Order: sequence, then structure tokens, then C-alpha cells
Amino acid sequence: MTRTAETAEILQVLQQVLGSSSTSKPIVLHEPDFSGTQAWAYVKDCLDTGWVSTAGQWVSRFEQELCAVTGASHAVAVTNGTVALRLALHLLGVGPGDEVLLPPLSFVATANAGAHLGAVPHFVDINAITLGLCPEALTERLERIAERTPAGLFNRETGRRLAALLPVHVFGHPADLPGLLTVAEAWGLPVVEDAAEALGSWRDHAGKASHCGLFGAIGTLSFNGNKLISTGGGGALLTHDAQLAQRARHLSTTAKLPHPWAFEHDEVAWNDRLPNLNAALGVAQLEDLSRRLEAKRQLAERYAQAFAGVEGVELVSEPQGCRSNHWLVSLRFTAADPAEAQAQRQSLLEVAHAGGILLRPVWQSLHLLPMYADAPRGPLAVAEDQAARLLNLPSSPQLLEGRD
Ligand SMILES: *Cc1c(COP(=O)(O)O)cnc(C)c1O
Repeated sequence: MTRTAETAEILQVLQQVLGSSSTSKPIVLHEPDFSGTQAWAYVKDCLDTGWVSTAGQWVSRFEQELCAVTGASHAVAVTNGTVALRLALHLLGVGPGDEVLLPPLSFVATANAGAHLGAVPHFVDINAITLGLCPEALTERLERIAERTPAGLFNRETGRRLAALLPVHVFGHPADLPGLLTVAEAWGLPVVEDAAEALGSWRDHAGKASHCGLFGAIGTLSFNGNKLISTGGGGALLTHDAQLAQRARHLSTTAKLPHPWAFEHDEVAWNDRLPNLNAALGVAQLEDLSRRLEAKRQLAERYAQAFAGVEGVELVSEPQGCRSNHWLVSLRFTAADPAEAQAQRQSLLEVAHAGGILLRPVWQSLHLLPMYADAPRGPLAVAEDQAARLLNLPSSPQLLEGRD
């Protein structure tokens, strides 16, 4: 089949799933949705009571509900997902001149969070099925460059400390945390999980299902505008460790000591807490979480059925032993040559955007961005290959509403 014919066929399948025509409004990748929720009533409560800022009942309620839906012992709500990552890395001791091991296939915030602390990302390759960090690639990399010393684990090529491991659950598909934890424990690396995209995603481990973000010491979530639930801007840290949660709360509220009137602060800290207004939006959507997850599962199944007979593409599917939230449904171009896959993707992007279906390619691999061009890295063949092939499809949970 020619590239043009293939593009036309894929576009037709998309239009059939989405029911779009040239007259309908553009279909974006992921949109916030407050319909059917108590969002108005909860936000109105903030305005009526005057509790709009970082103190107020909705913040603690949001944290309690986050614990209830994820099984976390503690949740600390902050202003966004990047801040949650930065705070988590800081709590585990990441600082200036350290290296943080992370995958190159992620949103830029994963690398930026460590850089905000003066640390440097160190890129390790991914697994093509989970799209997350590959435990074998991590082991190979550490065996090549890592050196255990009394002061910790060091990169003998750069002389910097290897301070933490930061896996990402890409598009809501759980990374192989059991495998990665085994490697991290063997080398004494603390683990922060970037679960920004993975609210409602679970992986089986040791006979039970655990929510993404609760395998390592701390996991982080994002409630940005395009995430599964959106508080406008927002994020959270999840942990089972009471002491880390207490430190996160303290450092996100200017390290102020509790006192009815005195301004006593015992260290340099941040003003990172989520305002009550935003938390009210979060509570309203968490109450609607299971319906959203079900709608996303149905949408993913609908796409899978529609693309089943289409040559040259496949859908990224939930890894074995996992329950994904299907945050973004991804299409993979399967041409043997990645350059051909990329050309096919480009061709589809052009016609789909012209027709109002606003598809997006996966992120540009982070090691190619100018600020990380010199960052240390292992071989990244799988990440580079996947970066050429993946395309995200419109995935809002409300997309199939009102359709059969
Ligand atoms: C959205 C996202 C973040 C950052 O969250 P913000 O709330 O936008 O700061 C971090 N990592 C990943 C993988 C994300 O998708």
C-alpha cells in the first residue's frame, strides 16, 4: 500500500471512532471535564467561606480521598507535578552535582525537577512494551559506570554521585517497578516514581495489586489541565512513609513551626501547597474517578477494535499483570525502518490536523533537548526507536459520551 493510501485508511478509522466531520469542532488530545460533578458547589463553598488559599478543608479532604483511591498511607497536595517531583527528590537527598537516573522518553518535567535542585539527568533506556525504564538496561549501565564507595554510589566516568532512580509510568501504563526495585535495592538507590500520568493505574506485585507511585519511597501525581483529573494546576506526593510525608508537608509550607502567631521557620523551604480552590476541583473529580476510568477503558477498547485489521499500525496495550488508566491511547507505526514509521506518522499528523483531529506525536526524547544534550547516558536505542513511532490519539474520557 502507498503511504497516502495508508494515511487515508487510518484517518478514516479515526473518524469512525470519533464520529468527527469537517463541521464539528476540533478534537483535542485530552480535555478537562467537570460535567456531572459537584465542582461548582465545592468551589462556591471556597468563595462563600473565604477559604481560597492554602489552608482549608478541601486540601485535607483531597489528600484523604487520594489516599482512599490509591491505597497510599499519606498524600501531600502541592501546586503542580513538577514541584511534587522536585520536593520528592529533595526529600531523598538529591542535591547540586548529583545525577538522577531516568528514562529519556518522558515529559520534560521529569528531567527538569532534578535540574531545579542542581542535579543532572542520567538517561537509561526503556522497554518497548511498558515504555518505562528497562531493568536490564539499568543493570548493564550501573555495572559499566557505577562504583560503590563509603560516601555512596558514584558514576566513575563523571565523578558525580548517583543519587536516585526516577522511573516514569508513561501514558498511564505501569513501568516494571518490581524489576526496577530489585536493581535499585541491589545498588542502594532510592526510588521516586513519576506517576504524573498514572492516577488509577495498578500493577500486581507479590500477590496483590499496588497503585503506581507506591512501589518506591515516594510517588508523584499531576493534576495539570490535560491529566485524568485536573485541578487547573496541581500535584501530589504519595508515600507509605509517615516521616517523609511530614517532611513534605513542612517543606511545602515554608518550614513554619506550628504556633498561633509567631513566624518561626527552621530551614529554607518552599511555598508549594495546593490552594483550597484547586483542591475543591480535585475532590469533585475524584468522586467521579471510577466512571472516568471505565470510560477510558471503553475508549481504548473501541480504538483497539477499530484498528485491529489495519496494517502498519498497532495500539500500545496495557502490560501484563497491570491495570492501566489508559490516560493516552497510543498508536505505534510498525514499519521495520524507524525513518519510514516516522514519515508515515508525519503524513497522518498533517491530514488529521487539517481535518480537526489534533493528534500529537510522543515527546521528543529528552536527551536531544539542548539543555540535556551533554547529560550522561547509556545506549538509548529502544527509546529512540519508539520516539519515532508513537502517536497519541484523542483520549478524553468524555469523547464517547452521547454516542452508542
Ligand atoms: C504532566 C507531567 C509532569 C508534570 O506535571 P505538571 O503538573 O505539569 O508540573 C511530570 N511528568 C510527567 C510524565 C507528566 O506527564
